[in-house]
Amino acid sequence: MSENTRPHLSKGSFAHITPLEIQPAGRTGLYYKQCMSSYRPKFICPGRQCRRSIKPTYDPSRNEYDISEFQDWRVRPLESKSPELAAAKGNANRINSRTYKGPEKAVLAEIQEKKFKDPKSLTEGEHNFLRENDPQEWWELVVSGRGWNGEPLEHQIRCPSCGKLAVRVGSKFEIPGKTDEKSWKEIESLISAGEDMVARFSGCATIEEHEEMVKEAERLKRQEVSRDEWEQEKSRRIEQVRVRGEA
Ligand SMILES: [Zn+2]
Repeated sequence: MSENTRPHLSKGSFAHITPLEIQPAGRTGLYYKQCMSSYRPKFICPGRQCRRSIKPTYDPSRNEYDISEFQDWRVRPLESKSPELAAAKGNANRINSRTYKGPEKAVLAEIQEKKFKDPKSLTEGEHNFLRENDPQEWWELVVSGRGWNGEPLEHQIRCPSCGKLAVRVGSKFEIPGKTDEKSWKEIESLISAGEDMVARFSGCATIEEHEEMVKEAERLKRQEVSRDEWEQEKSRRIEQVRVRGEA
């Protein structure tokens, strides 16, 4: 066998296929449990004049980032850079303390529930109230890594050169040289065919590939077991011969 890139398969406990209940939309062919990563999402602009990778603004000296396993990417200002956020954290701590009996607690819970049921139903006043009292409200979704409720994957990342919406690609995507016509033609045709560029360049096993690996690992393990059994049998026979010889 070639280099073992999935050591968890050799550890004796073989993870059988248990697809996540909620698969990210458009990624149903991937074995996602082994595949989650918190890499920064990658983007490209395949436009003939651009042919470039796009690094979304990332400034940890000003912002706090939250990148989920599915590459939802949320951002909010650092508390030290935003007195308003710091105030919201203070308010939240006060309101959520066990001893606090003020009216905001009930109001906050009510607005949060309203938002949960229908985010669009919030009035501006309610939205402001949340911002003032709930630091979670400060997270802004920059890149949505999975389409909840079948919604398409979304992001707001635009090409700095041409202004068009960037194309999101998987973490294993390697950008070809600008004059590499052949590679760019391939990329263009994948995109226009509606290929899932994140899944395609994720470097993840598909469900079928994963199943195949599990089978192979189990076969090797059986082989090992029968070899051990034979070794035991051999020493048993040698021992028998030795005992007989002594008798
Ligand atoms: Zn562009």
